[in-house]
Amino acid sequence: MTVQGLEKHTPMMQQYLRIKAENPDVLLFYRMGDFYELFFDDAKQASQLLDISLTKRGASNGQPIPMAGVPYHAVETYLAKLVQLGVSVAICEQIGDPATSKGPVERQVVRIVTPGTVSDEALLHERRDNLIAAIFCQNGRFGYATLDITSGRFMLTEPETEEAMQAELQRTSPVELLYPEDFPLPGLFSHLKGTRRRPVWEFELETARQQLTLQFGTRDLVGFGVEQAEFGLCAAGCLLQYVKDTQRTALPHIRAITRDSQDESVVLDAATRRNLELTQNLAGGTDNTLASVLDHTATPMGSRLLKRWLHQPVRNRQQLNHRLDAIGNLKDSGMFADLADVLRHMGDLERILARLALRSARPRDLARMRTALQHLPQLADLLTELNSAHIRQLAEYSQPMDELCSLLERAIIENPPVVIRDGGVLAPGYNAELDEWRDLADGATKFLEELEASERERHDIDSLKVGFNQVHGFYIQISRGQSHKVPSHYVRRQTLKNAERYIIPELKAHEDKVLNSKSKALALEKKLWEELFDLLLPNLAQLQQTAAALSELDVLANLAERADTLNYCRPHLTDQAGVEINAGRHPVVEQVLDDPFIANPISLHQDRRMLIITGPNMGGKSTYMRQTALIALLAHVGSYVPADAATIGPLDRIFTRIGASDDLASGRSTFMVEMTETANILHNATENSLVLMDEIGRGTSTYDGLSLAWASAEWLAEKIAAMTLFATHYFELTELPSLLPGLANVHLDAIEHGDEIAFMHAVQEGAASKSFGLAVASLAGVPKSVIKRAKQKLQQLEASGHQQAIEQPSQQSSDNQQLSLIPEPSEVEEALTRLNPDELTPRQALDELYRLKALL
Ligand code: ADP
Repeated sequence: MTVQGLEKHTPMMQQYLRIKAENPDVLLFYRMGDFYELFFDDAKQASQLLDISLTKRGASNGQPIPMAGVPYHAVETYLAKLVQLGVSVAICEQIGDPATSKGPVERQVVRIVTPGTVSDEALLHERRDNLIAAIFCQNGRFGYATLDITSGRFMLTEPETEEAMQAELQRTSPVELLYPEDFPLPGLFSHLKGTRRRPVWEFELETARQQLTLQFGTRDLVGFGVEQAEFGLCAAGCLLQYVKDTQRTALPHIRAITRDSQDESVVLDAATRRNLELTQNLAGGTDNTLASVLDHTATPMGSRLLKRWLHQPVRNRQQLNHRLDAIGNLKDSGMFADLADVLRHMGDLERILARLALRSARPRDLARMRTALQHLPQLADLLTELNSAHIRQLAEYSQPMDELCSLLERAIIENPPVVIRDGGVLAPGYNAELDEWRDLADGATKFLEELEASERERHDIDSLKVGFNQVHGFYIQISRGQSHKVPSHYVRRQTLKNAERYIIPELKAHEDKVLNSKSKALALEKKLWEELFDLLLPNLAQLQQTAAALSELDVLANLAERADTLNYCRPHLTDQAGVEINAGRHPVVEQVLDDPFIANPISLHQDRRMLIITGPNMGGKSTYMRQTALIALLAHVGSYVPADAATIGPLDRIFTRIGASDDLASGRSTFMVEMTETANILHNATENSLVLMDEIGRGTSTYDGLSLAWASAEWLAEKIAAMTLFATHYFELTELPSLLPGLANVHLDAIEHGDEIAFMHAVQEGAASKSFGLAVASLAGVPKSVIKRAKQKLQQLEASGHQQAIEQPSQQSSDNQQLSLIPEPSEVEEALTRLNPDELTPRQALDELYRLKALL
């Protein structure tokens, strides 16, 4: 790479600019002494992002150079901040020896820290997955690959529509996303931080196949079942190449890629994921989410797995029953608590293993891994008391690894320091040569004591002391008062306020020996440390399997504890479509309420597929609908559910259209968002889908809205026959059940008492009888006089509505006084009604028949 006008710069700047030219899209942290410095635009950007001061350094090419820097010992904090903002950083270290270099010391980028590829503990959120992803699109179809570098989990999928792609992006929420520069729909991920444009050729299929087979050490990809997923492979290839480029080390823990298929999970679209507040609430926080109620896991890896489960409910009933059996076994035996106590010692084995694979594990990582291994026998003992087939399987995967455990026990001291840099990590007795060098370095003390005593006596200086400091090395210190007694062969090293420090040849010789053996010991220790990795790495696959089993045991024990504490029941999964729940509760609302939660039943089956839900605002309609969805979802996670009993049929998707939220960022109005979501449901729901529709049609005029709500309900009921909960404030919709089969009205009641209103929160059959709008408004604090005026107006409107109905009796014969959407009779039907066959001649009858035909 050539950089224009390079020769006009100082040699160091030339070096900097050369390295920067190779790393154009990232911030370059250029090591200078105890600082990482940034220059030019990087400096300006960093000073803003990190709130550090922007200074200038000398001049190069005639101009002062903007500069900003961070101290190297605090670099983690700054990296964490940048990575959170989606910014990548290249770490450029001094490689050469400053003492022997001519010109600037040789420097090299040793790693590139990017949001999606970090594995350092300090830069990661413990209880959240950190994914990097790549997206690919051709002819309206997508390929999508994700990698969790901290576990090696590598997945691909091929969403078939834009909605499905959007849902995947939301489910996985990658912190870094690679996309080809010609990607046709950048709007899909405009809300994400850390997006990276990549050249189109990085997504080539053949290169991808080569990259992947090379990584997995296989001849082809057939064994992974991804051979046919060409779009997914294109994304996966680019992703793997990028990760290798940034890590600059082998990635032995990434040993497979799996295909994520929509047919195996209950699909949740982006809006549904948001509305159900699984791991994130509508405000973007984590309070009052399903995860916040359910996650009492003992390890961070368990917490992450639980959240993955919540976001990807499965359809396979056998798998779900395995989980349910395991939870039942843990719950009934009461073993979940003992299990959690042991699991707490397992820490974040999963991420430690990733750092081991990347050879960036720290001493404390290995100490924690040792703790985990030390507790495996105890875990195995506990697990023998459980008999669920699934737990037996997990016990098989988490067998004690005694040899490895004793290796770590022998190798690492009890409480090792944070980094290997200054040594003191490997335990005495682990390596004889290391012990020798260390003894030599320490054996020093005896010699020093003797030297101190003999010098003191020989020169009769009682203030004489032998000491050591990092800067000046060994010294003999003598107080100022006795400096006249100092013999002439003492050489002064340092002057203090009240004392002088000297060196003598014997001490110097000793110093050399000590320092020499110290550095020998340190070098040997670092070598042994690297060799320890070589001893551990062959066990990586088994360790990863153990970590996976521990995570799952953690989640199952956690769900058993939650089921026990929160009084959940085991759902019964059947192949009969439908949802039958006795005394169902909303898992989150019941936790935050001060008042007792009113449990409600629901029954949806072949002949009762849609419920039209009416009732006052604040009556509990949304809560009722969401709790149904959450219970159905939890059953498909394989968890117990907040109800007295629940029978849940097969479910392919859950859809929600709840609440109005403007998506102003993408320039869509409330109504547009609402209709887009509705369109998605009407296109994609099937008879096995659970659909929640809340207040659709609100964002437009009454008649528009009512007509849309009506037509959507009809479509869902007749064409799709989806299991649907349809909450509405359009009272007219309560007529639908009398017009179409398979529908029923239910309502949430309230009692009005003077100006007060009491919500019953109990679901009743039939339509609600009254609008409680004014009472709710009064409850909300709307001034009394306004309410009073509204009451007058309401009476007036009701009276005139009634008047209208009387004045136009021909138009409306039903007893419904409001706007009706019962289909008007067609012209043909009217003509037929008027006909009296008995009065027609054969000729007239034939004419009529022609006329009727023409009317069609
Ligand atoms: P709506 O959708 O009818 O306007 P919500 O479902 O939002 O009403 O419920 C309003 C409030 O009523 C909730 O925030 C909750 O505090 C309370 N609530 C709802 N359902 C119940 C219930 N089953 N038991 C107790 N309180 C409830």
